[in-house]
Amino acid sequence: MAILHGWRTCPRCGSLLANHGARAVCTACGSIYYANSAPCVSALVEDEAGRVLLSRRAVEPFLGLWDAPGGFLEEGEHPADGLRRELLEETGLAGEPDRFVGVWMDVYGDAPDAAATLNLYWTVRVGEGEPEAADDVAELRWFAADELPAPDELAFTTVKDALAAWRALPERRAGVHRLSAGRDREERL
Ligand SMILES: [Zn+2]
Repeated sequence: MAILHGWRTCPRCGSLLANHGARAVCTACGSIYYANSAPCVSALVEDEAGRVLLSRRAVEPFLGLWDAPGGFLEEGEHPADGLRRELLEETGLAGEPDRFVGVWMDVYGDAPDAAATLNLYWTVRVGEGEPEAADDVAELRWFAADELPAPDELAFTTVKDALAAWRALPERRAGVHRLSAGRDREERL
């Protein structure tokens, strides 16, 4: 497991570790270190037109590519609280998790010690207000479901997978259908 890649001494006491990859045990103080996947939360923010808000990354990994607002959970933090916090930090928007979209495994970049990540996605409804990009976000933009960035312009493989799952959500498809029916009616009037 990559998170313990290169670990040779105990961070607590400095003695030698027996590093088994998924687990490292200190030969002196007995501390045990586990290589778990890091939990992350991501928001698929939708507007009333059925578009989704994506953020262009201003930091590595995948600098310049499109991502969903979100990030790593803090220790002891509930995923719903982490989702609200990350959304507010990155976009300035207050929002509530709505529909759980799914969970996907990924890796945070391609360095030898890159953390394996466990990624939870929700659709999110936001209140009034325009999204404003934070420092680690180059740009925020709304995308219609049939005008998403090309696969090679998306950051993590989980973003591609989550957007595909989002497009296939039955209630989203029903919502889009209602919107198009509404447009047809307006055109006829
Ligand atoms: Zn130790």
